[in-house]
Amino acid sequence: MSRHAARDNSLLIRDIGTLAAVPPGPLTGERMQTWPLLHDAALLVRDGRIAWFGPAHKTPPDEGIATLSAAGGTVIPGLIDPHTHIPFVGDRSAEFIRRVAGETYLQILEAGGGIRVTMQAVRAASVDDLVAANLPRLRRMLAGGVVRVECKSGYGLAPEPELRQLEAVRELARRQPVRLHATYLAAHAVPPEFDGRPDAYLDLVADPALLADIARRGLAEFCDVFCDRGAFTVAQARRVLERARAAGLRPRLHADELARIGATQLAGELAALSADHLEHIDDAGIAALRAAGTVAVVLPGTSFFLGIPHADARRLIAAGLPVALATDYNPGSCMIESLAWIMSIAVCQLRLQPAEVLAACTANAAAALGVQSRAGALAVGYDADLVLLDVPTLDAWLYEPGRPHVRAVLVGGRTVWEMRPDD
Ligand SMILES: [Zn+2]
Repeated sequence: MSRHAARDNSLLIRDIGTLAAVPPGPLTGERMQTWPLLHDAALLVRDGRIAWFGPAHKTPPDEGIATLSAAGGTVIPGLIDPHTHIPFVGDRSAEFIRRVAGETYLQILEAGGGIRVTMQAVRAASVDDLVAANLPRLRRMLAGGVVRVECKSGYGLAPEPELRQLEAVRELARRQPVRLHATYLAAHAVPPEFDGRPDAYLDLVADPALLADIARRGLAEFCDVFCDRGAFTVAQARRVLERARAAGLRPRLHADELARIGATQLAGELAALSADHLEHIDDAGIAALRAAGTVAVVLPGTSFFLGIPHADARRLIAAGLPVALATDYNPGSCMIESLAWIMSIAVCQLRLQPAEVLAACTANAAAALGVQSRAGALAVGYDADLVLLDVPTLDAWLYEPGRPHVRAVLVGGRTVWEMRPDD
């Protein structure tokens, strides 16, 4: 490549007050918080990737290169949300208020409310409807510094509308800069037409030919099952995920959220990429995840939204598991799209240190999506997905829950979102 062309694809970020040099994940134990913070730093992007970073006074000479000033602020790897239920439509605010008044998630579910309300809305929605409703959500997440998001089906609850949700994810990926990863979650709930016949429903939505078609068309990378009390059993989840794995869809699992039924052991047994929720995990579950190298994805927004106890993230970290954080953004149990808000809950209520929280939302979240060799870290050769914050340190950032501090977001070295001067 000529020097001129190389210069056109290069960008120097200078005046970095603090550079959060999170190393590639998965990070465990002390390594979640002992990674380096560089002060008075600079970072060079070339062809969409991180080419160099270090102390400002050692910046490689490259006259004429485009520059971007971080104005003394903090630069972090772009945030990754490895568990959302985008794309969804429909309004469940009335149910939320009923829950606040005392009804439980299971009571609402058993009375025909809950997920079936969203199912009806999604079944009635076209791909265009799903895209139109979820594009603004992704735009707001980007403005919050999120550059990569996992998106699940699981509200169609029949082959055709499930695939429509996955097609909407593909279209959303084309229409905006946040990088998306799709998960097939037809085994989210039993639809009314299969009441009392969960195995017949699973035979339909986990038909090997259907799973092979989803994988072949690249509509999903992963398969997930809601394996819990009131949802699918361990035996049912095993059947779905073994078939999915044979078709080329990597397993992940909703586990130990409402009750401990052995879902976490199953996640370990299947070497799932992640086991998510884990409010009720025990030592055997922890051992199973550790042996398999499965990422523990903690979803404190859900506990906050439902008013139930949090997963014990400190215990998971102490046990040597790579812990990631995610929003679990969904219309029933966590209508919170802000990963920054989840990070604040993690600091204030899970007692995580700011460095651990950032590792959980970058390096370990990338590992939960299987992209840790190119994303989620500040390392040479990695995607130049970066966030510029208007605070001098991570501590100052997480000290102010609810206040936006993102000044600019870069994806592949390109500025895709910027705070307007009057914001
Ligand atoms: Zn979920």
